[in-house]
Order: sequence, then C-alpha cells, then structure tokens
Amino acid sequence: MNPFRYERASDTSTAIALLTRFPEAALLAGGTNLVDHMKLGIAQPHTVIDITQLPYQQIEQLPDGSLRIGAMVRNSDLAADTTIRQRYPALAQALLSGASGQLRNLATTGGNLLQRTRCVYFQDVSKPCNKRVPGSGCPARQGYHRNLAILGVSEHCIASHPSDMAVAMMAFDATVHIVGPQGERTLPLLLLYRQPGNEPERDTVLKPGEMITAVDLPPLPMAAHSRYLKVRDRASYAFALVSIAAALDVEDNTIRDIRLALGGVGSMPWRALKAENVLRGSPATEEMFLQAANAELADAYPLPGNAFKIDLVRRVLPPFLLELTEESKR
Ligand SMILES: Cc1cc2nc3c(=O)[nH]c(=O)nc-3n(C[C@H](O)[C@H](O)[C@H](O)COP(=O)(O)OP(=O)(O)OC[C@H]3O[C@@H](n4cnc5c(N)ncnc54)[C@H](O)[C@@H]3O)c2cc1C
Repeated sequence: MNPFRYERASDTSTAIALLTRFPEAALLAGGTNLVDHMKLGIAQPHTVIDITQLPYQQIEQLPDGSLRIGAMVRNSDLAADTTIRQRYPALAQALLSGASGQLRNLATTGGNLLQRTRCVYFQDVSKPCNKRVPGSGCPARQGYHRNLAILGVSEHCIASHPSDMAVAMMAFDATVHIVGPQGERTLPLLLLYRQPGNEPERDTVLKPGEMITAVDLPPLPMAAHSRYLKVRDRASYAFALVSIAAALDVEDNTIRDIRLALGGVGSMPWRALKAENVLRGSPATEEMFLQAANAELADAYPLPGNAFKIDLVRRVLPPFLLELTEESKR
C-alpha cells in the first residue's frame, strides 16, 4: 500500500471542503471495497477522507411515506430494519444475499452503491483495463468474461456491476441525494449510473467533490409483494451470475403494475423497463414472463463465455415471477 494522508470529516461541509482541496482524495465509508483496492494498487489516493462520523446513520420515515436511508447506514442494519423487511422485503433479501455477515456489518449504503466491478482484469494491475487505465485495452472479450455483462456494454468495457442492494433499490424507483461544492441535488438511481461507452472509467455521473448523503425509497404499496432471487456458483459468499428483484401488483391474473431489475447481467444495476412494458396490463402467465425476458434480452451482447446468462435469465425469470404472482394473491 502507498503512503496516504488520513483526514476525518466531522461534518458535511468539512468533507466537501477536503474533497475540493484534495481532488485526488477518496472517501472512506466501510472501507470494504476501497481498502482492498488500495492494497491491490487499483486505487492510490493521496488522501483518504473518513466519512464515518457524518450524520447519515438513520433510516427515517418522511411525511409523504417515503423512507430515507442515510448513506452511512450499514448493510446489516438496513437488512434488519423492520420497516424495510415489511415494506421492501426484496431489499432485505438482496442485502442478506451479499458478502458475509462481517462485511455487511461494515459496508454502508453509499459505499455499496459505489463499489466497483469485480472484473478480474480491473482487479489485476498487471493487466490492461480501460476502466482502471483509460485507453489501455480490454482483455476480457478474448479472455475470461464468464461473470461479466451482456447488457449495456461497449467495445471498451464489458464489466458487470456487482451490487445486490442496488438492484433491489433500482426496482423500487429509489432516488439518491447528493451534496457537493455546488450544493445539493437529487437524482433517480437509474440516472446515477452510466454505461461505459467511450469512458468506462466513469461508473456514475457524480461530479468531482460530490458525495452521496442518502437514498429515498418512495411509498410503493406493491413493494411489499417483492422478492429477490440470486443465482450464483455457491450458495453463499459469491457474486450474482444473474439476480432478479421484482415487485408485482396482480389482479384477476392481470398484471396491473410491475417493477423489475436484474443483477449480474448489466454494466450497471439493470432496470428491466422493456420487460415491464411487455408485462403491464398482460396476463400473469409463464408465456408472458418469457416474452418479457426475451424483450429485455433483445439487445444483449453475449460472448462465448457469458452467453449462458441469456438462457439463465430465460429459465429463472418466468418461474420466479409465477411464484411471486401466487404469493401476491395470498
Ligand atoms: C469478499 C467480498 C464479497 C462480497 N460479496 C458481495 C456480494 O455478494 N454482493 C454485493 O453486493 N457486494 C458484495 N461485496 C461488496 C461489498 O458489498 C462492498 O464492498 C460494500 O458494500 C462497500 O461499502 P463500503 O461502505 O465498505 O464502501 P467503501 O469501501 O468505503 O467505499 C466504496 C467506494 O465508494 C466511495 N464512497 C463510499 N461512500 C460514499 C459516499 N457516501 N459518497 C460518495 N462516495 C462514497 C468510496 O470512496 C469508494 O470509492 C463483497 C465484498 C467482499 C470483500
């Protein structure tokens, strides 16, 4: 690890002032991703700004029924929160499917959203990687890409986004609160992330000096009928090959409304808007669910080592949504 300067921010304005003063600085939340990256040489910040003391540790109910989750709320606390478990069960399930108990005790909401890809080339500084070193190349196409993305990729990068939590939040229309030198702004989570395009080094639209302070979940009644499914190589402690977060509102076997997001397949947590459009107003049948999966996958860009993800989505999505349909009738 390289030597670095350590600063602890006692309030938000100090954090922003430090970020402005040290543009190469990195924010330290739980540190479960950042510190690994510093050890591996992927991140070499001259300054580390510890934000663990900032007042973003609460889960609060807002007057309009939304829930506000502070950026420093730990993944374990979020998964255990009674309101989250009752009103957004897929989020609790997604959180509990990620990492390990010890990691979740440290990992934070903001850090989880901004964790970086687990692509082996990104993580190995002896290899080229356009995301880590822009313009250096992407060996993943010809190399090992079993875990990588088939949706939202570019010729420069096929890295997949690893978060489980973000997939569930994406399905729930979450919004993100951001603060920076220019003040505060709010973005739909869908617009926080960006696809790699010509600039794979930029995972999000965050500007220099900005940080996330909170995530809001709107009061979506059907979120109470939601579930998260994670398909992976091992039953625990493994990233998703494919994951699904879904919330359904079905009446007389017709889908009145649906929220659907996929993990493991996209360059970002993937909101399945095309599949949702196919399903809204349609019968809740296995055939329709398969048609929806096909619509979402129509633009997929599979490679020999990850083409199996297309079949996997087609196989797991219909039975998963059928089960959720039955559950939502009870
Ligand atoms: C062995 C292992 C297995 C794992 N398995 C899974 C898994 O199955 N599923 C899964 O989803 N995750 C998994 N993870 C990843 C884990 O969930 C993340 O490391 C964790 O959520 C990151 O949160 P953190 O608070 O520790 O972030 P940090 O490491 O502190 O920060 C991560 C990044 O976000 C930035 N950052 C942090 N907070 C903010 C903020 N408020 N505003 C702006 N920038 C910020 C940091 O500067 C850094 O760049 C695994 C990790 C490990 C090590």
